[in-house]
Amino acid sequence: MNVLVTGGAGYIGSVCTEELLNAGHTVTVYDNLTEGHRSAVDSRARFILGRPEEDKNILNAVMETRPEAILHFAASALVGESMTNPAKYFHNNVTNGLKLLEAAVAAGVKKFVFSSTCATYGPPDRVPMTEDLPQRPINPYGESKLMFEKMLLWFQQLHGLEFVAFRYFNAAGASEKFGEHHRIETHLIPNVLKVPLGQARQVEIYGTDYPTPDGTCIRDYIHIYDLAQAHILALAPGKQGFFNLGNGDGYSVREVIETCERITGQRIPAIEKPRRPGDPPKLVAGAAKAVSELGWKPRFPKLHDIVSTAWAWHQRHPNGYPG
Ligand code: UDP
Repeated sequence: MNVLVTGGAGYIGSVCTEELLNAGHTVTVYDNLTEGHRSAVDSRARFILGRPEEDKNILNAVMETRPEAILHFAASALVGESMTNPAKYFHNNVTNGLKLLEAAVAAGVKKFVFSSTCATYGPPDRVPMTEDLPQRPINPYGESKLMFEKMLLWFQQLHGLEFVAFRYFNAAGASEKFGEHHRIETHLIPNVLKVPLGQARQVEIYGTDYPTPDGTCIRDYIHIYDLAQAHILALAPGKQGFFNLGNGDGYSVREVIETCERITGQRIPAIEKPRRPGDPPKLVAGAAKAVSELGWKPRFPKLHDIVSTAWAWHQRHPNGYPG
């Protein structure tokens, strides 16, 4: 298929672009490079430098590309930042997202694949979390993604735009070529790996008084290769709806640090800090729907394998991407 990937220079978008190309699709990446890196765009893809603030920029990119499908990764995606700058989240994720949706309808796009998040649920009544749980986000990031989900439903109903929305749990790991490099890193695994890389003396644990066995937050980590494969499956005709993507295994912050110690063979000192606002205590996916309806089969479900690929990438790219 001819596909347009927004945010294809970012962490998840770069690996999805690589896998879409490996699967034989034609890919145009649209990215404004505020978070992404030009060198994270697979050289086989066409690149458009996005200017979503400019009137008609997104529309022009879509009209010029005439994609059969749009995969929409571009977003502001940090829980913590969304608690201090909510406007940024509603602006990028809702206002700019709406421009893309309007362009998709104008260009007669057949399929829209959206990067949503488990943060749309808020603290769940039960885990593993299935797609039918109530959505009560506790941070503007989750709220902005939920607003986009709702727009998608209306666009499907009123414009016939077929969509798949994936609610990601915690994306982690790397491919051979592409990995996780945020200019300001806030994510757990890359922050922990900074210690064995010699770039930090210790890792900070945000909150040790959560109602979990060791007091630290529990998350479900999913390899970006497996996330990418789900997106490719979503392009098949007739696939639509909301799908969780996670492995169904929860790991606490302390368990992640221990796993990183085992893989790197180094001790990683940790200091205890207060809770980070907006963090639910425990998020673990039930992803049986993606398995049964999309035929999704995770290749790297174990945290050990996920962290091993991240560590291999960071060792090869200790300073991340140039620029
Ligand atoms: N976390 C932490 N120290 C860090 C980064 C993250 O303790 O340096 C915690 C964070 O509070 C959360 C978990 O690790 O409970 C995962 O955070 P991350 O930012 O990686 O992903 P999120 O779940 O927020 O999407």
